[in-house]
Amino acid sequence: MKQLHRWQMREEKLCKVCQKPFSIRKKWKNNFDEVFYCSERCKRNK
Ligand SMILES: [Zn+2]
Repeated sequence: MKQLHRWQMREEKLCKVCQKPFSIRKKWKNNFDEVFYCSERCKRNK
């Protein structure tokens, strides 16, 4: 059985701005706990 990293078990979040679920991106894997927005646009609209 392949071991999952912590970030792989939390693949989706709800965007705080548009309320849409968004998937993890590889570049976020190191700080996914700090990612609350699906895009840079939403991030600016908070
Ligand atoms: Zn959004």
